[in-house]
Amino acid sequence: MKILLTNDDGISAAGLLALKDALEGLGEVTVVAPATEQSGVSHSLTYLGPIEAAPARLSDGSPAYRVDGTPADCVKFALLELLDEPADLVVGGLNMGLNTGVNIFYSGTVAAALEGALNGLLGVAVSTTPGDGPHVRRAARQARRVLDNLLEIRQPAARIFNVNIPGPRRTEPEMVFTRQAMAPFKERYRSSGDVAGKRSYRLEAGPRPFGAVEDHTDVKAIREGRISVTPLSTDLTDVEALRRLRGSRSLLA
Ligand code: MN
Repeated sequence: MKILLTNDDGISAAGLLALKDALEGLGEVTVVAPATEQSGVSHSLTYLGPIEAAPARLSDGSPAYRVDGTPADCVKFALLELLDEPADLVVGGLNMGLNTGVNIFYSGTVAAALEGALNGLLGVAVSTTPGDGPHVRRAARQARRVLDNLLEIRQPAARIFNVNIPGPRRTEPEMVFTRQAMAPFKERYRSSGDVAGKRSYRLEAGPRPFGAVEDHTDVKAIREGRISVTPLSTDLTDVEALRRLRGSRSLLA
């Protein structure tokens, strides 16, 4: 199996190397990662200007490719330009920071998996809480366990999986299938003073959604210390609304 691995924390991130190591043996892994951190860029694509790409090495000396762009750039460029043979699986991660609930919309890690799926491939995004080396390596090994499971049970209908791994625990966490929580985060802009006559602000988000968190969601699973696996879709159509609209008598003939 050919595996394309990227991330949004950048090519120097410890989570990228840990996940690459954990994927060894599952298939042939090619690493194509952003030159700089791209967290929160979502599915942004560079097309107003050129992107630079060059061979690089990870901190263990293993070969990789560095792209001066976003995670979606990395996947698209790898699939169209770099890889001699098509990939079977596109993996984003291991991200330092959970991508649960509405974070899915902002995540570059999830976007990498989505870009893989838009190209007809299986896409998997893997995220965990920020932590030290042992936590990162343990989470990467757990990600491998999840991937082994998913590859075994995958239904053709599911093209994207968003995997979130909880912080360090005493026992090995179980894996549950969830849906995306929709509870918003408590956010605000904090003024960081005036710079050259312009007031500047930084977005601050609370650590978790406020209000009730629905059962069987990714946020709930993480709170309970479980590994959350959410199947996603690239089709954003509101099927239920479409059904109601088509049944509506006010449609113009
Ligand atoms: Mn990130």
